[in-house]
Amino acid sequence: MSLAGKSAIVTGSTSGIGLAIATALAEAGADVMLNGLGEAAELEAIRAKLAAETGRKILFSPANMMKPDEIAAMVAAAEGDFGKVDIVVSNAGIQYVAPVEDFPADKWDAIIAINLTASFHLAKAVVPGMKARKHGRIVNIASAHSLVASPFKSAYVAAKHGLVGFTKTIALELATFGITANCISPGYVWTPLVEKQIPDTMKARNMTKEQVMNDVLLAAQPTKQFVQVGEVAALALWLCSDAAKNITGANNVIDGGWTAA
Ligand code: NAD
Repeated sequence: MSLAGKSAIVTGSTSGIGLAIATALAEAGADVMLNGLGEAAELEAIRAKLAAETGRKILFSPANMMKPDEIAAMVAAAEGDFGKVDIVVSNAGIQYVAPVEDFPADKWDAIIAINLTASFHLAKAVVPGMKARKHGRIVNIASAHSLVASPFKSAYVAAKHGLVGFTKTIALELATFGITANCISPGYVWTPLVEKQIPDTMKARNMTKEQVMNDVLLAAQPTKQFVQVGEVAALALWLCSDAAKNITGANNVIDGGWTAA
């Protein structure tokens, strides 16, 4: 599955699912702009390693997904350096776990901004170029929580449900321009995001770490296995390929059977 000659932006690609997707796209021949937060030397090491391993042009943008002007600047930089942006994967996401009455308003705002509104700003910025070239791939990383809820995750569940609605809407708007827009909805994938929410869930539910992993996280997943980042990346790569040109407006689940129940 070749993406030779294509260029991509993957947000939140310095870790977890985003880094795996960026790697898969670069291995398939695409030039990639990475994005994420972190310490400068660490971020440069990630960029340089991917460039060395794939031989592709790998750039990095420090754009904060909470800031619309930084998202627009990231797209402008990618269009400047690559000449065009064919693929965007809106993946950056954060989580916060608390009962609704204790949910900090600033955490709600940050989750909605990063997990939902950033995808709007990203699409708004790349669509004019994609429309002009009559080709584009927009992949938004949602979650099984775009289809079902879990207690204590009100902002996350709201943002991910909203992301599916947004993606379906732009899929309809862009359908005759050779541009597809799809969601990928993973179940529990073993990444730093999942690992980091274990202490809060332990507190919220008064459980041990093992209880949270087995009785809360994998309780929902009939396969009783965490999804691996490479599996999500393979699905993203497929959606970006020519073979997937008639898959649009779809919420593609990869959740070990969770939402089948
Ligand atoms: P992660 O914590 O490993 O990585 C998150 C990435 O987002 C990092 O690169 C981080 O720097 C970046 N990021 C965070 N805030 C940012 C901001 N304000 N601006 C720019 N970048 C920012 O997370 P992950 O588990 O790989 O999750 C990636 C996506 O997959 C998220 O949208 C998440 O909701 C979704 N998802 C994850 C799981 C899972 O089980 N891990 C399941 C379903 C959906």
